[in-house]
Amino acid sequence: MADLRVLVGVKRVIDFAVKIRVKPDKSGVVTDGVKHSMNPFCEIAVEEAVRLKEKKLAKEVIAVSCGPLQCQETIRTALAMGADRGIHVEVSEAEAQRLGPLQVSRLLSALAQKEKVGLVLLGKQAIDDDCNQTGQMTAAMLDWPQGTFASKLALEGDKLTVEREIDGGLETIRLKLPAVVTTDLRLNEPRYATLPNIMVSWARARPKPF
Ligand code: AMP
Repeated sequence: MADLRVLVGVKRVIDFAVKIRVKPDKSGVVTDGVKHSMNPFCEIAVEEAVRLKEKKLAKEVIAVSCGPLQCQETIRTALAMGADRGIHVEVSEAEAQRLGPLQVSRLLSALAQKEKVGLVLLGKQAIDDDCNQTGQMTAAMLDWPQGTFASKLALEGDKLTVEREIDGGLETIRLKLPAVVTTDLRLNEPRYATLPNIMVSWARARPKPF
């Protein structure tokens, strides 16, 4: 499907290499002055979407991030990796604390319909909450088929083959687009967002608010 649009969810999380500290009042973890990055599974989702575009199997890659102002950085990283445009669902820092998979799924499913996408690509889990729920809930809300923990993905026309690793080996499922897919570690090795590309992404307009 050469006119396929792909929506990729990119979550801003505390960088995986940071040692997490709990706030003294135990109300959460310390985030002030702490390095944040794109959730690693979302990087894999962006990479896969960009590869589909490079193979001319997709027309447009749209990166969406829901969260505070700083999510712009996450979206711009996705743009620097090759996404075509970004959408920022901006919420305050305080509201972001209450933004869980259910709320994000509602937003992503509404956006998937508004942007008329044929594929929603998400990470299998966010490394901050470890929920592993958003992809499944988004598929349920859209009433679209889902392929979770994809370690291999092949698209032919509107037929998608998803391979996932299970205890006994590999499982292959076949889906028809539109569909939701979540990415596992071995799907690909994401490219680096190079400095020149990051600079170009910052020269672009602010990601469109939703
Ligand atoms: P979770 O269900 O929280 O483990 O998240 C799984 C995936 O859903 C992430 O890897 C993202 O692709 C997507 N996702 C979750 N939260 C957000 C968010 N705030 N903004 C954009 N995408 C998100």
